[in-house]
Amino acid sequence: MTKRLEGKVALITGGASGIGRATVEKFIAEGASVAIADIDVGRAQEVADAVATPAGEGRAVAVGVDVSSFAEVEAAVASAVDAFGRLDVIFNNAGIAGGKPLLDHDPEVDYEPMIRVDQHGVYYGILAAGRQFRDQGGGGVIISTSSVYGEHGAELSFTYSAAKAAVIAFTRSAAYELAQYGTRAVAITPGRVATPIINQFSDELRATFAAEQLRGALTQPEEIANVVAFLASDEANAINGTVVQVEDGYSSFKQRLD
Ligand code: NAD
Repeated sequence: MTKRLEGKVALITGGASGIGRATVEKFIAEGASVAIADIDVGRAQEVADAVATPAGEGRAVAVGVDVSSFAEVEAAVASAVDAFGRLDVIFNNAGIAGGKPLLDHDPEVDYEPMIRVDQHGVYYGILAAGRQFRDQGGGGVIISTSSVYGEHGAELSFTYSAAKAAVIAFTRSAAYELAQYGTRAVAITPGRVATPIINQFSDELRATFAAEQLRGALTQPEEIANVVAFLASDEANAINGTVVQVEDGYSSFKQRLD
């Protein structure tokens, strides 16, 4: 296997589960050192232990973080630098999902908490990592997880869609502002991925999700991780300020239905 991330140091938020966990495993396989940052530090430690094979030994640490706190995100960046000496990649991936009909919203329950995690959390990651990249002499890659919902409206997703649209806007502006330091920023838009986050939905809805993609199946988290690893590598140096759709034709299929 090629080692496209040899010598690089990454901080992966939401690294204890789903897309984040698959990305931790892929990054370790590609030669990176990884700080696995998650609100569930126990599960983050389990992932760190699982990747500590002879080949991966010493290249993963678990870090507890609530991404809705800027102080905690700054501390997570500092932990990665303490552990491995520098930071080359941040994957702003931690997130929560869910929703209810707009007119049933209680803003304090159905808007603000999700915005704090899915929107503020990404802003904090971009800010803290961007400063670290600048202070260590430039370079660095910021990859943030948006969603097809960030590009399209959808039922029961008023708040989630808003936060995920902000992730795309953050990425474009960050790429523009941080180019002077040699820092790249890219957003990904997964479609329907087989992770615990969508276990909250019924079997019937999960089947609909699968049918909305051209292969008729949920995307596997490893398939997202493969793309993130490529985007983090120097092979993707020309990809900056854009959205990379990893959604198995979801957008095209939706347009065909229109
Ligand atoms: P997941 O639930 O398996 O993983 C999410 C991780 O984020 C968990 O480990 C959780 O503990 C962590 N987390 C939640 N809140 C946090 C906080 N405040 N601070 C730190 N960590 C926190 O779900 P996933 O599908 O792997 O989701 C990863 C990202 O992908 C999310 O941003 C999600 O919105 C996005 N996404 C998922 C899908 C999908 O279909 N699964 C589609 C599009 C986008």
